[in-house]
Amino acid sequence: MSKNKNLSAEEKFKAVISHSKEYGFIFQSSEIYDGLSAVYDYGQCGSQLKNNLREYWWRSMVQLNENIVGIDSAVFMHPTTWKASGHIDAFNDPLIDNKDSKKRYRADVLVEEYIGKIESKADKEVEKARKRFGDSFDEYLFRKTNPRVVESERKKEEINLRLKNALEQNDLAALRQLILDLEIVCPVSGTRNWTEVRQFNLMFSTQLGSLSDDAQTIYLRPETAQGIFVNFLNVYKTGRMKIPFGIAQTGKAFRNEIVARQFIFRMREFEQMEMQFFIRPGTEIQWYNYWKEKRIQWHYAMGFSKIKYRFHDHIKLAHYANVACDIEFEFPFGFKELEGIHSRTDFDLKNHENQSGKRLQYFDPDMNESYIPYVIETSIGLDRLFLAVMSESYCEEQLEDGSERTVLRIPPALAPVKCAVLPLVNKDALPEKSREIMKNIKLDFDCMFDAKDSIGKRYRRQDAIGTPYCLTIDHQTLEDNTLTIRERDSMTQERIALEEVSRIIEDRVSLKKLLKLII
Ligand code: ATP
Repeated sequence: MSKNKNLSAEEKFKAVISHSKEYGFIFQSSEIYDGLSAVYDYGQCGSQLKNNLREYWWRSMVQLNENIVGIDSAVFMHPTTWKASGHIDAFNDPLIDNKDSKKRYRADVLVEEYIGKIESKADKEVEKARKRFGDSFDEYLFRKTNPRVVESERKKEEINLRLKNALEQNDLAALRQLILDLEIVCPVSGTRNWTEVRQFNLMFSTQLGSLSDDAQTIYLRPETAQGIFVNFLNVYKTGRMKIPFGIAQTGKAFRNEIVARQFIFRMREFEQMEMQFFIRPGTEIQWYNYWKEKRIQWHYAMGFSKIKYRFHDHIKLAHYANVACDIEFEFPFGFKELEGIHSRTDFDLKNHENQSGKRLQYFDPDMNESYIPYVIETSIGLDRLFLAVMSESYCEEQLEDGSERTVLRIPPALAPVKCAVLPLVNKDALPEKSREIMKNIKLDFDCMFDAKDSIGKRYRRQDAIGTPYCLTIDHQTLEDNTLTIRERDSMTQERIALEEVSRIIEDRVSLKKLLKLII
């Protein structure tokens, strides 16, 4: 039996980052020039994993839902798009600088982190009490009556209210005052020497046109959603869609993030997977709840522990939403947003209608009337999903014989390489036989051939990139067409006939396995 080494969250996060680089998952962009802040490249294993995650999302949306279709719109869009969507006027983050460290922070995030600390203090009290009282512990009653927990809750609500008011009223002075009143210090300098709070627009702009005279300022899209809205009419008409229906797309988005930390959690260039679901006005709460449930089940299907996920209702609604929540995931640095589910009302289509002068309405044959549909959006960051999967899969194990291994327990259907083909020795016609075998199975799966080093070392290399199966070809294979199949998680080995290989692997690594859980 193997035993997991207990790494602290911080140790694990560091290990995931260095492992990602060492095994070709993620590289810093332009590393030979010392990199570019908050921009990353995906390597040979990373790009495969990313493709698989995207495919899992795409097929769950487009293939499994008759009423959802996919599109692929351009990154560049007419600049008026961003006027209509509200991004030119309202896509700002409040930033604050510490005068001593010269570090820049998002003012709202400083307050949210403070609230997070109050929460975890209260949680610790609850856990202590749970241990003391054992089975008879009533968490609800404890939270309602324990003076310290009650006080934390009161404080949290008070701060939340002040934060919400300051953000909603765009009152930057009040936001700064809240930071001062809470005596929040800069994590780097440890001082409270803060500047004023300023608004900072997150969109990147560039020029369209070859001559600067007639150049036009355009933006790199900060979200993929608007590409869906401006194509609403095209898809509705040409696809003969009937409400309720959805349009899905995946693609790059760009934001000039003020605080770009935590590896690929917050990047300046990232990928989104978004679906806008067009519905009859008045049915938004029903569909909002429907998509909340659908999306959480999609996450659960990957097989990680359910306690890693939670819903978080928004206290400050984005300029377009009337109800919204996040699916948060417990990353090594705490619970953070992984996916957003928003009820966007008719905000976007209405504004595009106003700005473009085109009628963006749906004729509802059942009601015999036209209206601008309401929209429920599900929006997930592919890179954040990648980080969630990597950090949850990463495992350092102590084996029975005293040795150690690092294994990525990636859900087999999502693993970058499904099967490694390993000749036991690099001679005696074993490499040739292995190549022959590989020639067939690579038609079904992503395979890797490896003949270098001892077989033990090669197993470790495959464990480290999360390959679910290794096939070892030995002298007996030449005689009777049997080989050894080794499974990643249990490390068990079994001798099987060559013709069984595809079926056994297919059984575990097919995406169908995940999709069946959510259909
Ligand atoms: P945050 O509050 O963390 O800045 P957000 O609420 O602005 O995120 P949305 O606009 O709802 O994010 O975007 C939808 C999804 O896109 C998010 O749930 C997240 O997974 C992803 N995302 C947003 N910004 C980034 C980023 N800078 N880097 C990577 N992924 C991102």
